[in-house]
Amino acid sequence: MTVPFVDLKAQYVSIKDEIDKAIYGVINETAFIGGKYVNDFEKKFAELYGVKHCISCANGTDSLYIIMKMLGVTSGDEVITAANSWISSSETISQTGATPVFADIDPLYYTIDENLLEQKITTRTKAIIPVHLQGQMCEMDTILALAAKYKIAVIEDCAQSHFSAYKGKRAGLLGTAGAFSFYPSKNLGAYGDAGCIITNDDALAEQCKRFARHGALVKHEHTLEGINSRMDGLQAAILSAKLSYIMGWTEKRRLNAKYYDEILGSISQITLPVVRPETHHTYHLYVVRAERRDKLAKFLKSKGIETSVHYPVPLPFLEAYKYLGHQPADFPVASKYSHQILSLPMYAELTEEMIDYVSTTIKEFYS
Ligand SMILES: *Cc1c(COP(=O)(O)O)cnc(C)c1O
Repeated sequence: MTVPFVDLKAQYVSIKDEIDKAIYGVINETAFIGGKYVNDFEKKFAELYGVKHCISCANGTDSLYIIMKMLGVTSGDEVITAANSWISSSETISQTGATPVFADIDPLYYTIDENLLEQKITTRTKAIIPVHLQGQMCEMDTILALAAKYKIAVIEDCAQSHFSAYKGKRAGLLGTAGAFSFYPSKNLGAYGDAGCIITNDDALAEQCKRFARHGALVKHEHTLEGINSRMDGLQAAILSAKLSYIMGWTEKRRLNAKYYDEILGSISQITLPVVRPETHHTYHLYVVRAERRDKLAKFLKSKGIETSVHYPVPLPFLEAYKYLGHQPADFPVASKYSHQILSLPMYAELTEEMIDYVSTTIKEFYS
C-alpha cells in the first residue's frame, strides 16, 4: 500500500463532473478576470463563513500584505508573529517596511505563546499576527485583551484554519481581519494560487478591495496606487464548486484525526496533537512529535508512506532573518520541536485502511 502526503487527484475524481463544468463555463464565457464567477464566490464564501465581506485576491500572502498596508503598517513599525509558521506570516511584515518580531510557540498547542506577547510589545508595535497553525486556534481571548490594552490590530493568519473556531467564533472573525489562502493543498484549495480577506469592517473591506485592484474601485478612477492582486475566474468557479463539499471534507479530516488519536495512542515514542479546549480544530495538518524523527520518516518513506515537516527551520533561523541575530535560546520550544515534529498524511480522502497502515508501520519502526 502507498499513502501519499496529500492526494489532490482523489478529490478531483470525486467531483470531476462539477469541476469540469465549472471550468468549461468560465472559458466559454471568457470570464477570466473579475466578473460573475469571482463575485459569486466572494458572496457564497462570505455567506457560508458568516462574515460581511470577502475580498478575493491572488494568494494568501497578498491577503496578509494588503490588510497590513490598509491598516497603515509601515516602516519603523513592528508586527509580532509566531516563530513557527510559513514565511508569508513574516515576509509580508517586511514588505510593508515594518520589522517582524517573533514569539516562541506554546509547548502543548504549537501556536504562538500568548504568554510571551506582552513582553514583545513596544511603542512601535502596530499589530499581532496570530497564526492558527495546522487548523488549531490560538488563545484569542488573551491576544484580543492585549490588543485592546495596547490599541494594536489583530490580523489572523487563517491559511491553515478554514472553518476552525474559538469559543464558537470562526477563525478570521475574532480579530480586525482574517487572511486566507486557497493554495491547492489547503483545506479549501483552488487549482492554482488564490486567497481572500474577510472582515466585518465596511471601511477596511473597501480599502482592501481598492488597494488590491490598482487603487480603483471603478475602472480608471485610481484614488491611490495599489497592487494587482486578483483571483481569476477559473479559480473562483472551482472554489465555488467545492464550497458544497467543504463542511463534509472538514468533518472527515476531524474523523481521521480521531482515528489517528485512537490507534497511535499506545505508541510511547510519539506525542499526539492536543486540541485547545473550547475550540474546533480542522486538522489542516496532523502533527505528532516523534523520537528519532528523521529515521522514522525515512522508514515510513521506504514503506510507501509520505510525511512532511512543518517546518524544519523556525522562521527566525532562516537565512532571510540572519540579520536579526537570533539564537536557539530565544525560541527554545520552536527550536527543540523543529527536530521532533512530523506531519502525517491528512486529508478527507484518507481511508481507515491507510491510517491503519501508517499506524502499523510506525509501530514496526519502534519495535
Ligand atoms: C499557505 C500559507 C500562507 C500563504 O498562502 P499562499 O496562498 O501560498 O500565498 C500564509 N500563511 C500560512 C500559515 C500558510 O500556511
